[in-house]
Amino acid sequence: MIDAYSPAPEIQQNSFETEFARSFEGPKALDLLVTTECMMRCQFCYAPQKRIPEMSCDNWLRLIYLSYLMHTENLIFTGREPLLLEFLPNLLQYAKYLGQRTTLSTNAMLFPPKYGKVMPFVDEIGIPIDGFDATTNALMRQPNGEVQFEAAVEAIKVICREYPGVELTIRTVVSALNLDFVLQIPEALTRLGIDIQRVRWKLYQFNPIGNHFKGSLMEKLCISTDKFISLWAMLREAELWFECFPAVVQDETYAIVYPNGDLVTTVVDTQRTNSFGFPLFKTKIFGNLSTKFIRTMTSWRQWREELKRAGNNWVRIPPVTNTQ
Ligand code: SF4
Repeated sequence: MIDAYSPAPEIQQNSFETEFARSFEGPKALDLLVTTECMMRCQFCYAPQKRIPEMSCDNWLRLIYLSYLMHTENLIFTGREPLLLEFLPNLLQYAKYLGQRTTLSTNAMLFPPKYGKVMPFVDEIGIPIDGFDATTNALMRQPNGEVQFEAAVEAIKVICREYPGVELTIRTVVSALNLDFVLQIPEALTRLGIDIQRVRWKLYQFNPIGNHFKGSLMEKLCISTDKFISLWAMLREAELWFECFPAVVQDETYAIVYPNGDLVTTVVDTQRTNSFGFPLFKTKIFGNLSTKFIRTMTSWRQWREELKRAGNNWVRIPPVTNTQ
């Protein structure tokens, strides 16, 4: 019944695209960066800072169909802020129709007006909290980090109450700005009425992915892996359940589609390191999957080889998990 439902019937009948898509296993997980718009301007933001034109709803639906043919199992709807995209509910609904697993990564600022339309089609939702209260959260999230903290807490409560089957992940980026406050987050959330046993908590060491991290900004944000691991040890001591992502292992782990259809991955730039000795990252573009360019994409061969080299398994490197 997929064929009857697909919004892109012209690509179904032995077209170049469908033949190509069926010919090999795609990445198991694909990040769909559906928009570069965001109402916030966080200093540590990894997403592209320049506006990238967005594909139409039909093109996105078509791309999701191709990812389904390539056996991509997990679609991560991200952005900068994906809830700003008008037709996001259509994309989520279609992915669920095809049987794919959906993750929504949102800052929660637009959660109240939008959640009714998206949550029925979401398997997992990731919400950032970077401080133990509005003020410490605002050290990381700007502007209006205070408002974002309140929005995140309210969204988490709604999800716990109304969507018990949805996996809920709190994401915390640890930088020099909030290192001293992270340990207090679980207790603060408990005081606010959140059952922290219900949520999964992922902790990421700040990692300067993207060309916009330079000089003083990097100095302001970077922490050493030693400091991150010390925090990890303290969390273990406190018997808190979390998953931990040190920067040193966060390399070559994402296959991403940009809003204009560019298929990219982040790769380690072995020529450059930051002042803490971590390799920097650059973006490698394989080609463009939008209708206009798909037939002229020059890097299919390269992408195939890359997929083969990665063992057809471009999923994130397993985190260091608290096993206590
Ligand atoms: S809320 Fe997220 S996407 Fe928006 S600026 Fe901050 S880190 Fe970037």
